[in-house]
Amino acid sequence: MRMGGTPSTHKMIAKDGKRYDGRAPDELRPISIQAGVLKRADGSAYVTWGENKVLAAVYGPREVHPRHLQNPARAIVQARYNMASFSVSERKRPGPDRRSQEISKIISEALEAVVFIEQFPRTTVDVFIEVLQADAGTRCAGLTAASVALADAGVPMRDLVPACASGKVENTVVCDLNKEEDNCGEADVPMAIIPRTGEFLLLQMDGHLTYDELMLAMQYNINALMKIHALQKEALRKKYATVQLEEPFVLPKREELPPEEPRIEEYREQERPAPPADLPPPPPDDMRQGNGGA
Ligand code: ADP
Repeated sequence: MRMGGTPSTHKMIAKDGKRYDGRAPDELRPISIQAGVLKRADGSAYVTWGENKVLAAVYGPREVHPRHLQNPARAIVQARYNMASFSVSERKRPGPDRRSQEISKIISEALEAVVFIEQFPRTTVDVFIEVLQADAGTRCAGLTAASVALADAGVPMRDLVPACASGKVENTVVCDLNKEEDNCGEADVPMAIIPRTGEFLLLQMDGHLTYDELMLAMQYNINALMKIHALQKEALRKKYATVQLEEPFVLPKREELPPEEPRIEEYREQERPAPPADLPPPPPDDMRQGNGGA
C-alpha cells in the first residue's frame, strides 16, 4: 500500500470508464483456485489471481513448539506470509520484515475466527503462505488460498474465507486493485468476510475515501467475495468429486468371469527359495509369535 506514492506515468482510467488493463470498475481479475496441490502438507491450495501466484500449505492441528505458546483451552493458528525474493521486479530481501509480520498477524487472526479452535486444545494449526509472484492484493489472495488449504486438510471450520481489496484510482472507485493501481491510487480497502454469517474478518483502509466511496468500495468487495467463495467451493468439490458412472454398475455373473487363476499361495510356494542347507530350521509358529504359552 503506497497510496499517493509515485504518480502514474499513464492515465489509468479511460474516458469510457475502463481501466488500463481493460477491466470495468467493478470487475475482478481472472482467478483460479486449485486445492490439494502438495503431497507432503496436510492441506494445500494454489491461487492465481491476475498476475499474483500464491501457494498455501497447512499442517496440523499438531503439538505446539515452544510449549509455552500452548493454550490449554484452544488451538492457536499460526500463519506465516512470505514473499519470495523473485516475486517482485526488484529482488526482495529474503526473510521476514514488518510488512510480512503484519500480514501474517492479520491472516492468523482472521483464520482463528473461522476454525473451531476450541475442539483442539494445546495444538497449533500452521499455515504457510508463499507468494511466488506479487501484483497487489497478495494478502487477500493468501487468505483466500489459506482457507481452502485448511478445508483441504480437514480442519473443521465455520466457512471458507474469501478476501478482496478494492480502492480508488484517479477519483474512481475500482474493484480488486492491480499493482499499478495500488501503487499510484488514492485508497486501498482489503476486506474478508464469513459469507454464511456476513461477519467481517478483515477490514483495512489505507488512503482517503469519502463515506460514499468507502461504501461503494465495500460493495464491490462484497460482490467479489461471493464470486471468490463460489470458486473456493468449486476447487474443493473438484478435488473430492466422486466418479459418476454413466450406467449403474452390475456385478458380472460367475459364468461371465475369466477362467480361475491359480491361487496366490500356490505362486508363493513356488517362488519361495529353499533355505540354505547350513541354517537351522525356523522355530515353530507359536514360538515366533512370542506368546510364551501365557
Ligand atoms: P498487498 O499485496 O496485500 O496489496 P501491499 O499493498 O503492501 O500488499 O503491496 C502491494 C504490492 O506492492 C504487492 O503485492 C507487491 O506487488 C508490491 N510490494 C510489496 N512489498 C514489496 C517489496 N518489498 N518490494 C517490491 N514490491 C513490493
